[in-house]
Amino acid sequence: MRIGIGYDIHRLTEGWKLVLGGVEIPYIKGLEGHSDADVMLHALCDALLGASGLGDIGKHFPDTDPKFMGVSSMGLLKDVFTMIVKEGFKVHNVDLVLIAEEPKISPFVEKMKDNISSVLKIDKNYIGIKASTNEGVGAVGRGEAIASYSVVTLIEKECLN
Ligand code: MG
Repeated sequence: MRIGIGYDIHRLTEGWKLVLGGVEIPYIKGLEGHSDADVMLHALCDALLGASGLGDIGKHFPDTDPKFMGVSSMGLLKDVFTMIVKEGFKVHNVDLVLIAEEPKISPFVEKMKDNISSVLKIDKNYIGIKASTNEGVGAVGRGEAIASYSVVTLIEKECLN
């Protein structure tokens, strides 16, 4: 069993799309970034890469590379999944926390789980998605940014039988 943790934060600004967990969410502001700035999937990718000893998202998808401009982070997650499978891992469990003052994400959580489940080939019961505010404190609390943490566990395929 291997464990990985990931964290990400993006600036929340008018004129950008808000994409979280692969779901475009209607809101007056969105997340600034080189890709679609899906802060949850970025935290998840880092947790998966960390658990498998493959480095981090910046190493594989540098924000200086124009080919990643505006790309869907669902595509990045698929690429990460391919890498960890090649290393001999199966995803066991995913847990995610979103930290945002607004908007409420509860109507979108099932769709986020569907997206993650379809890419990582795990049952939705093994995916946790929770949301918290920052109680008005700091940049996230002022609605200037949205952050996310993720923890994952991986099983080494040789240990499955
Ligand atoms: Mg990011």
